[in-house]
Amino acid sequence: KFEYAPAPESRSIVDLAASYGLFIDGEFTDGGGTAFKTVNPATEEVLAEVAEADEADVDRAVRAARRAHDRVWGPMPGRERAKYLFRIARILAERSREFAVLETLDNGKPIKESRDVDVPLVSQWFFYNAGWADKLDHAGLGPNPRSLGVAAQVIPWNFPLLMLAWKVAPALAAGNTVVLKPAETTPLTALLFADVCRQAELPPGVVNIVTGAGETGRLLVAHPDVNKVAFTGSTPVGREIARTVAGTDKRLTLELGGKAANIVFEDAPMDQAVEGIVRGIFFNQGHVCCAGSRLLVQESVAEEVLDRLKARMATLRLGDPLDKNTDVGAINSAEQLGRIRELAATGDDEGAARWSAPCELPERGFWYAPTIFTGVTQAHRIAREEIFGPVLSVLTFRTPAEAVEKANNTPYGLSAGVWTEKGSRILAMADQLRAGVVWANTFNQFDPASPFGGYKESGYGREGGRHGLASYLEGAR
Ligand code: NAD
Repeated sequence: KFEYAPAPESRSIVDLAASYGLFIDGEFTDGGGTAFKTVNPATEEVLAEVAEADEADVDRAVRAARRAHDRVWGPMPGRERAKYLFRIARILAERSREFAVLETLDNGKPIKESRDVDVPLVSQWFFYNAGWADKLDHAGLGPNPRSLGVAAQVIPWNFPLLMLAWKVAPALAAGNTVVLKPAETTPLTALLFADVCRQAELPPGVVNIVTGAGETGRLLVAHPDVNKVAFTGSTPVGREIARTVAGTDKRLTLELGGKAANIVFEDAPMDQAVEGIVRGIFFNQGHVCCAGSRLLVQESVAEEVLDRLKARMATLRLGDPLDKNTDVGAINSAEQLGRIRELAATGDDEGAARWSAPCELPERGFWYAPTIFTGVTQAHRIAREEIFGPVLSVLTFRTPAEAVEKANNTPYGLSAGVWTEKGSRILAMADQLRAGVVWANTFNQFDPASPFGGYKESGYGREGGRHGLASYLEGAR
């Protein structure tokens, strides 16, 4: 039987190997179901045991969220809600080191990314949305925007805390309450976030965290008293959720997979472009929905770009994610490592040429060397399917029209990158690329004021900016 040990009480991230309960109605509580282990993917050591929420737990969490919405958070004036959100944002900034270390331990990402990218963006997301909370009635969102009610939020393991912030901050600013389910391999920063909610004296039930795997997510999404479902994860699970929600009056936003083209023209600023290719696919071990996983390079500069890219890849430092000099951390799970290996092997079988950065892989843990495949055609599986790992497929093109045709030749449409000195070309490409985000001479840049979301099988709805807020409001555009 799973015993609940009150863990984040101590406010210490080294207090691991403890057991963590669910966070419901402002309290850490025992779950009625079983428990599961979460491991450090860089060492395979068990970090903690976490409760697996069952049907009764999910129901308890949704009911707590309903009460909090109807009695406290929904009717609360926006300026009061804003105070709580600003407080949460400040505490997140104050405790950023703790969050960065815990995220790196649970996820495997390099500490310099969790410290300099994930955690700062998390508090920015709360600051940005806090600023909206008292302006909803007068910001042109609609005549009388109102909260939807209880939001069920299910998130993946690649940016555990940042995906939480993308979902929780706008939902709360708009007056909704939430039940959030983090991914089963990365539940810990969500539980530490629950501790922040307590520290900020957020009213009980406004934020509830139910840990568990797919079944817990399924129960949450299907709960009849949920008004809005927000999901980030894989396209097959997104489809299943869309089927569950169909025929109900629940609102739905889906942020799904991607297979982005990073397009380098012959007039591109080459040094920046090579950095952008590296950032596009090796940032966060390529566990990025908008990763630039297909390099489209103009034929006239392909050789030069590839030579420079390999030279740069040879300098990447792979290893201990807690070392601040590490560039490439661990793959999040044995299962994900297996998927990457399997899909990359189809590249070999189908005749593409593999080149991997010359780095030594640690003995324990889950590791994959940064890898590129050249000689890739559009028919190859590695050109079509999301690998979600540090593997780049390289294709070439001659004309801008060919670049657009190849870039759009995918069932996905989340993001794209364009590298060129020509402003007019950037505008023309942005117009023709079927992708929610088009970066020009940069890649993987995020800002809480910018809407983010997909075309086609990358999902629907937008997160971020006023568009992201509107998807948590009734009567808003
Ligand atoms: P996943 O779909 O397997 O799991 C995502 C979450 O859904 C997890 O919390 C999981 O427990 C839960 N889940 C699984 N089955 C469920 C079900 N039947 N009902 C309800 N919940 C269920 O995805 P993953 O492997 O964790 O994440 C990787 C995927 O996420 C990639 O495809 C990636 O592109 C995508 N992603 C998209 C974005 C975006 O913004 N578009 C951002 C990050 C990741």
